[in-house]
Amino acid sequence: MHRRRLALGLGFCLLAGTSLSVLWVYLENWLPVSYVPYYLPCPEIFNMKLHYKREKPLQPVVWSQYPQPKLLEHRWIVVPSSLEFGGADERPTQLLTLTPWLAPIVSEGTFNPELLQHIYQPLNLTIGVTVFAVGKYTHFIQSFLESAEEFFMRGYRVHYYIFTDNPAAVPGVPLGPHRLLSSIPIQGHSHWEETSMRRMETISQHIAKRAHREVDYLFCLDVDMVFRNPWGPETLGDLVAAIHPSYYAVPRQQFPYERRRVSTAFVADSEGDFYYGGAVFGGQVARVYEFTRGCHMAILADKANGIMAAWREESHLNRHFISNKPSKVLSPEYLWDDRKPQPPSLKLIRFSTLDKDISCLRS
Ligand code: UDP
Repeated sequence: MHRRRLALGLGFCLLAGTSLSVLWVYLENWLPVSYVPYYLPCPEIFNMKLHYKREKPLQPVVWSQYPQPKLLEHRWIVVPSSLEFGGADERPTQLLTLTPWLAPIVSEGTFNPELLQHIYQPLNLTIGVTVFAVGKYTHFIQSFLESAEEFFMRGYRVHYYIFTDNPAAVPGVPLGPHRLLSSIPIQGHSHWEETSMRRMETISQHIAKRAHREVDYLFCLDVDMVFRNPWGPETLGDLVAAIHPSYYAVPRQQFPYERRRVSTAFVADSEGDFYYGGAVFGGQVARVYEFTRGCHMAILADKANGIMAAWREESHLNRHFISNKPSKVLSPEYLWDDRKPQPPSLKLIRFSTLDKDISCLRS
C-alpha cells in the first residue's frame, strides 16, 4: 500500500514537472517582443545572445602605426597562382590587391570566378540582403530588386529583407528559384537622419531574432542603387567593407572621418586605412551582428551626449573598421556612384548609386 502511494506520488511529480516545462517553452516562444527604447543602457540588446555555431567574441585589433595603403599606387601586386592570365600584360598593374593586414581587395582580374563557383556552390549557402526603404525611398525598391535578380549571387539562395514603413509599396518583382523576399514593417521617422542612423540597431536586432537562423552571410546595402554587373561569391568573407568611390585615391588626412574627440566615432589624423562607404558592408551573419551591435552602441553613446557624427552611421562604421579590420575589402567596383565618370583603373561597375534628387527624397 505504502509503495503504491509512493509510486503514485512520484508519477504525479513527473507529470507535473513535464507539463510545467512544456508550458514554459510554449510561453517563452510566444511572449510578445518588446520594442527597444532608444536610450542607454538598452538592456534588451545587452542581453541578446546569438546561439550560433561556434560563436567567438570579437577581439578588437590593437592599432599600430603604419602608412596609409593607397589603392591606386604601384605596389607589390599579389597574383594568386590559380589565376590564369592570357599574358603578362593582362595582369593588374595598378590596383592594390592586398591590405597591409593581408585581406584581399577584390576587383576584376584578381579572382577566378569559375574556381570560386566550384568552391562555394556545393556549400548550399544562403546569402541575406538587408535594405531600408522608408518614405520616398520605396521608389527605388523595384530597380534594386530587378537588377539584383539579374546580377546578385546568381545561382545561390538569397533572402532579401526589406525594412519599410510601407509594406504595400514593395513591388511584386518575380524572383528566381531559391530566392525569397520578406517585407519587415518598421516605424518611419520625421528626420531622414534618424532612419539612416537606426539601421545599425534594426539590423542587429533582426539578426538576433531571425536572420542568424536563416542566412549564412548577410550584406547590408543602400536601396537607391542598382547592380550593373555580376556580384558573386568573391565578395563573401568574415567581415566585408567596400571602399568609398569618392576617397579611393585621396590621402587619409582628407578622409571625412569624425574628428571631434568627444564622439565615439573619433579618428585621429594618424589613423585610418581606407575610407569605407556606409552603403555596402557585410560578412558572416554572426560577425555582422557583432559589428552592427558595436556601431549601434557607439551611436547610442553619442546620442546620450547630444552628438551626431559627421557622416552619421558611416562615421561609426569607419571607426569600427579601423579597430576591427575587415577580412575582405571590395574595390569601388562594388560601390560606385553614377554621378562620377568611370576612371580607366575601374574595369567595370557592379553596383552603383543612382543619381537622385536628394532634397525631394528627404523632404
Ligand atoms: N533611407 C530611407 N529613407 C530615408 C533616408 C534613408 O529608406 O528617408 C535609407 C535608404 O536605404 C538609403 C539609405 O538609408 O539608401 C541611405 O540614405 P541616403 O542614400 O539618403 O544617404 P547617403 O548615402 O546619400 O548619405
